[in-house]
Formats: sequence, structure tokens, C-alpha cells
Amino acid sequence: MSGDQWKAAVDSDRPSVARVYDYFLGGSHNFAADRALAEQIIAVLPEMPMIARANRSFLHRAVRFLVDAGLDQFLDLGSGIPTVGNVHDVAQRASPRARVAYVDIDPVAVAHAGILLADNDRATAVRADLRRPDQVLDHPDTQALLDFDRPVAVLMVAVLHFVPDADDPAGLVARYLAAVPSGSYLVLSHASTDGRTPVGLSQARDLTGRTASEMTTRSYRQIADLLTGLDPVEPGLVRLPLWRPDPADAHQAGEARSAAETFPGYAAVARKP
Ligand code: SAM
Repeated sequence: MSGDQWKAAVDSDRPSVARVYDYFLGGSHNFAADRALAEQIIAVLPEMPMIARANRSFLHRAVRFLVDAGLDQFLDLGSGIPTVGNVHDVAQRASPRARVAYVDIDPVAVAHAGILLADNDRATAVRADLRRPDQVLDHPDTQALLDFDRPVAVLMVAVLHFVPDADDPAGLVARYLAAVPSGSYLVLSHASTDGRTPVGLSQARDLTGRTASEMTTRSYRQIADLLTGLDPVEPGLVRLPLWRPDPADAHQAGEARSAAETFPGYAAVARKP
């Protein structure tokens, strides 16, 4: 991207979900407007940084699970700003031949991923809107990196709640999964206001509307419907910290137990039969 294109694409006065999430995770790729909104969200939902860390930890566990299952291709939709423990770090540590295509709508996320991946010929970062599957799937960088005749792990982690019903999230999942063969997987996490959730969650969701990305929380049933036609692996669609917590990580296992009842989101890994 040229300097002028970059300036046009990045509005540092308007917070972005990618940069606000980066702040929650302790990253440094955020502007004053992002930090201000993040602090407002934390004021109504003090659990927010823990929720972000738990989500990131789920992502890592899911990628390790998939590498163990033999997957070596990853399409990470709504990948976010690179922070320690990216999908390619986790996957390529376990399997050096693993290939990862990152896709995000946020120019800062894609620019930083591009810098990080400059010497990595098995990973790429594409700027695209996941609501335009053809643009993502037909992008020359995606096509050059991934072999769509072999199983691909499609990651939609903490991103579909930024896709309103009008953009048909279930149809998008189906479209991506139709582009990959049997034996491919979907990794999903999704915010929910179901059941007992922290009191500030609805306020935090409304505050997020100040970014370009409106947030739509969904019920367990609505999230389960996104998995239609796929076979969820054990333990199925569960409160996010309960998806195969790492017993070796006592802190995380403890966090999982204490957060499970009220955790405001669900997660699953499901196989295309
Ligand atoms: N998947 C990462 C994770 O779970 O750690 C990042 C999640 S972050 C909460 C959500 C990301 O989705 C942001 O980087 C945002 O820019 C991106 N995003 C939101 N809407 C998108 C869209 N329509 N297309 C592509 N990316 C999108």
C-alpha cells in the first residue's frame, strides 16, 4: 500500500475492533482513540481482557489440535493484529510445512502481519472483507498459498459476531466450507449474551458499535446452527474456556472452571464429513 493509500485506509481517530482487541491483549498496535474506547469497555466489563486472552488461548489449542489431526493448511478469517502466538507460530512450530493465509479487513492488522511474515514463504496476509468470499478465495495470494484440493482449516474466531444477520453468517460459513474438501475443519468462537453472562456485556457490545464493526451477539442455538452439516469434535459447542482446556496450564484450567458458567461466548471445532 502506498503512503497515500495507507492514510486513506487508516482512520486513527475512529477506533477499530482489531486495534481495540490488540489493546485488550496487551499489544502496542493501537491509537489513542482505540485505547480510549477499550478503557470505556473495561469500565463496564472488567472481564474483557480475560475474555480476549481466553479467546486467544482457545485459538492456540484449536490449532494444536488440528496440527495433531494432520491439518497443515489454515485460512484465518478475521485474523486480527499479530500478537505473540499467531496461528503460523503455533502451527509451524508443530509442523514446519504448515501454510497460513491471514485475512482481515483492517489495514493495520494486514500491514503488521505483512511485516511479520516478510521472510516466511509459507504464510501470507490478505486485506479483504470475509463477507465477500469470492474475493477471499480467488485472491492470488490465497490461491498461491493454499491447495483447495486438500483439507483446509477455516478459522472464524471471534469474528462472526461482527457479521450482522443481514449478511447471512450461516451462508458465509457454508460458502467457505463448500470451497474445501471433506476432512477440512471449521474453528469457531462467537460472543453470546445467553444465560448468565457478565452484566456489562450488552453495554460493551453497544460501545463496540462506535467502531466500523457493529456487534451481533447470538444465542447458543443460533451459533449451533452455524455448524449445520459439520461434525463437531468433542466436547462440541461449549462455553469457550471449556473447549479442551490444557491440563498442563493450571492457571488456564482454573480460569476455565471459574469462568465457564458465565463466559459470554461459545467455541467449537467441527469437521466437514
Ligand atoms: N481472530 C483473531 C482472534 O480471535 O484472536 C482476532 C479477533 S478480533 C476480535 C476480530 C477481527 O475481525 C478484527 O481484526 C477485525 O478487523 C476483523 N474483522 C471484522 N469484520 C471483518 C470482515 N468483515 N472481514 C474481515 N475481517 C473482519
